[in-house]
Amino acid sequence: MEAKKSTATGTSVVNDKGSVSFPCPACGEAEIVRTKSERQNVVKYTCPKCGFTGPN
Ligand SMILES: [Zn+2]
Repeated sequence: MEAKKSTATGTSVVNDKGSVSFPCPACGEAEIVRTKSERQNVVKYTCPKCGFTGPN
């Protein structure tokens, strides 16, 4: 299994059971990874491909 890192902070989410990953809602090409704490704190992410910033 590939080691995933948070899109926003680069933090490893290997041991974060509350982390999520999903396709970019704008371009659908890049995979966005968020940790549990980032979701709870509504930390923004930026798509590395299209520059979309979320969540909005
Ligand atoms: Zn995108």
